[in-house]
Amino acid sequence: MTRQPPRSTLDRSSAASDVYKRQGMVNGMLEELNITVPVALHLDHGSYEGAKKCIEAGFSSIMFDGSHYPIEENIEKTKELVATCNKLGLSLEAEVGAIGGEEDGVVGMGECADPKECKMVADLGVTMLAAGIGNIHGKYPANWKGLSFETLDAIQQLTGEMPLVLHGGTGIPADMIKKAISLGVSKINVNTECQLAFAAATRKYIEAGKDLEGKGFDPRKLLAPGAEAIKAPVKEQMELFGSVNKA
Ligand SMILES: [Zn+2]
Repeated sequence: MTRQPPRSTLDRSSAASDVYKRQGMVNGMLEELNITVPVALHLDHGSYEGAKKCIEAGFSSIMFDGSHYPIEENIEKTKELVATCNKLGLSLEAEVGAIGGEEDGVVGMGECADPKECKMVADLGVTMLAAGIGNIHGKYPANWKGLSFETLDAIQQLTGEMPLVLHGGTGIPADMIKKAISLGVSKINVNTECQLAFAAATRKYIEAGKDLEGKGFDPRKLLAPGAEAIKAPVKEQMELFGSVNKA
């Protein structure tokens, strides 16, 4: 990636506001910051109302999580959002079969989606589909039974080329990740691992008393080691997923 030297803040803000007005927030930032790889501003697990607000606000990618609705209602709302996103050229991720987390009292196994319901939602013309296959958000419990490849296989049999999304990527063993990719998983959400790296680096900064030195309390300084620390797990995951140089 090539970058031009940074301009002064004043230059940047006036130039940026023109570009943002012309191209919208996300595409405007790509141009203004000379970013040469595709970048999406993605809403994760959006509600129906939240999705509509983010579309209006200039997000370039939307996930509508209607998995807690009865399937008919999930389909109805997803369908409406597909139409809007198609018109605006945004990607839309839908979800079938709720993906739980530790906070939901999940023990041993996350929910598995019904492949027929996945097919119905895939047929609406969504860009990608998140389906529960035993995966969960947050840290996996010691008695986790692993991903359900039978479910994933059955889903892919019906949905064909539809890119599938695996949520709860932190803590899934590498061999399971690779098998999931071979069965149609094209996007993997990894959050907890990045959060843990961020928290550890921030803790170190504060425990070393650096926030008490000079202007070390400035959020731009206080949060910098955490942001930097996220790079290592991201690089590691990109290598595991085979996504290096694929942008
Ligand atoms: Zn998720």
